[in-house]
Amino acid sequence: MSRIWICAGWLLAAAPTLLSAHQPSAAATYLGNEGVLVARGETKVVFDAFYDDSYGQYTLVPDTIVSAMMAGEPPYDGVDAVLVSHVHGDHFAAGPAVAYLRAHPEVPLYGSQQTLDKIAEFVGEEDSLLARIIAVDLKPEDPPVRFDIDGLVIEAVAIPHAGNRPEIQNLSWRVTLDGKTTVTHFGDAGVVMADFDRHAEHFAARRSQAAFPPYWFYGEDDGRTIIDKHFHADQVVGVHVPAAATGHGEAARARFGADLFTDPGESRSLEGAPLANPKDRREQP
Ligand SMILES: [Zn+2]
Ligand SMILES: [Zn+2]
Repeated sequence: MSRIWICAGWLLAAAPTLLSAHQPSAAATYLGNEGVLVARGETKVVFDAFYDDSYGQYTLVPDTIVSAMMAGEPPYDGVDAVLVSHVHGDHFAAGPAVAYLRAHPEVPLYGSQQTLDKIAEFVGEEDSLLARIIAVDLKPEDPPVRFDIDGLVIEAVAIPHAGNRPEIQNLSWRVTLDGKTTVTHFGDAGVVMADFDRHAEHFAARRSQAAFPPYWFYGEDDGRTIIDKHFHADQVVGVHVPAAATGHGEAARARFGADLFTDPGESRSLEGAPLANPKDRREQP
């Protein structure tokens, strides 16, 4: 009997050592439109995950994923920060964002001044929830901002919105998880070389394991040039693909000759060398 107990004790004591010998896995999971969950082990952030307007053509986050996020079920548990690119309804809405923040009272939200204003309008100026909103009031020509919090380096620059919409603050967030895994999100950045050139130093300062530009970067020569010149990314996965491509990811990727997120729930590994073949990518867990 005692031998068994000794054995079991050894196994229990050894288990954490064996587990820690492995690197935690890192992956990006698509939520819808420009919504992405990025996780490295237990360190997690979500981009543009709380919104409610498809504008009749973009993917909403499916109800099953919304419910799981709200309930904090794996893999949507333990989110360390919520990031918002801009206040258009296919990226952010105060209602769903506030519902999430109320259900997860430890989670901070990083967004533009306009994002903070929308939340303040929704909850009222006195609400204690506003203490968890970190607002960045950046103009396109302003230098980057940086926040260091537990396990995360969060940086932002403003990149003007596509289609000449200067009234909208659009932020490009770059987040490094546990000093190991870096991703960059661009919101609805326009394909304007000068808007990236002025932040060349910022983009070059840290390599990303994945960059998530809106898919229109693939459709313009300058978009491809900006990707090559400024993204410094091991892999590029286009987002904001119209909902018509859902279920037709392979055809969409073939059409653009590039990787795209099309189906909420699909993931990309953020470890090791990027895979050359989109078909191989699709088959990753
Ligand atoms: Zn927009
Ligand atoms: Zn958009």
